[in-house]
Amino acid sequence: MANFNLLLLPGDGIGPEVMGQVRRLIDWLNANGDDTFEVQEGLVGGCAYDAHGVSILDETVAAAQVADAVLFGAVGGPKWDDVDYDVRPEAGLLRLRKDLELFANLRPAICFPALADASSLKRELVEGLDILIVRELTGGVYFGEPKTITDIGNGQKRAIDTQVYDTYEIERISRVAFDLARKRRNKVSSSEKRNVMKSGVLWNEVVTQVHRAEYADVELEHVLADNCGMQLVRNPKQFDVIVTDNLFGDMLSDIAAMLTGSLGMLPSASLGAADPKTGKRKSLYEPVHGSAPDIAGQGLANPIAMIGSFAMALRYSLDRVALADRIEAAIAAALAKGLRTADILQDGMTQVSIGEMGDAIIEALGQKD
Ligand code: NAD
Repeated sequence: MANFNLLLLPGDGIGPEVMGQVRRLIDWLNANGDDTFEVQEGLVGGCAYDAHGVSILDETVAAAQVADAVLFGAVGGPKWDDVDYDVRPEAGLLRLRKDLELFANLRPAICFPALADASSLKRELVEGLDILIVRELTGGVYFGEPKTITDIGNGQKRAIDTQVYDTYEIERISRVAFDLARKRRNKVSSSEKRNVMKSGVLWNEVVTQVHRAEYADVELEHVLADNCGMQLVRNPKQFDVIVTDNLFGDMLSDIAAMLTGSLGMLPSASLGAADPKTGKRKSLYEPVHGSAPDIAGQGLANPIAMIGSFAMALRYSLDRVALADRIEAAIAAALAKGLRTADILQDGMTQVSIGEMGDAIIEALGQKD
């Protein structure tokens, strides 16, 4: 039995609605579970701007630094389109990522059996799919210098982006991937382009060294990034954890996301370095979707990506793997009953509101006791 401190940052648009369902789940766990969750809430994004003129307060960032996990809803919306660049809603999220040094982005692609027909791939390829893409988030070609467009005369311009990785950046992201694989099916596929890129040669070398020195018990394979994209749509179930750089990770995680259907279903996590004393990592868990202003306030949002993000926090930050499994099973049970929010509605299924989906998930969780 443990007491966990969670910081909840619901944000804007549907953020507070989907976070509201996590809050109900936490209340239920506090009343019925073994552990206790102490919850603190804060403002981030447009709502923080409205209240304080900034997208996040220093004290909220400080609370994030000491929380066992941060749960983040979504930020932004047309109301704040014209605010100054450095106080725009997204700046709050970027500041959290930077100050907490969240260099590892985790995007699982899990296909619930009841939704296997909603994928663009055949049912047998995606049914039961459970893979995890670990993307390096703070380095590589998106941040490397020089990054310029130069006029070179004769009506020509030259654009330069720089793909750059240092050993330590590859070491730390590969350790995250190997650690996660040990909690899953113990296999890591490392993806780069060593055949044409020097950064790929170093990536391959460093991942191999970390594996040999610290993680020989985990299965490691190297897959060229183009082949990895192809294999993801040919036979995605061959993978367990895929570790890759910022650019390839951006693309491969979107391909993997599409295997599972709607945006409203996709959770994610961002992790920082492990504390040398406790081994704990700073962490932020959020749905992949945005604030969906088109459906905000109508009870139409799908809460599963947000609830799935909480389950990831339990699995990867709070070491409550069995409880994470139970929550994911409760989501699967609600879907298996034919209940669907509007975004995942199919013929013959019953449309429910966000609150009714939350009810069904909590009810299914109760039945497992
Ligand atoms: P979005 O993800 O908010 O919405 C895209 C579409 O998916 C919309 O039709 C929306 O209704 C639907 N959708 C999204 N989440 C859903 C859910 N849980 N249930 C049901 N349907 C859902 O992306 P957008 O429309 O491009 O952006 C809207 C706002 O969100 C913008 O201000 C954007 O900057 C912001 N945004 C924030 C984040 C974040 O906070 N991390 C991420 C993406 C976009």
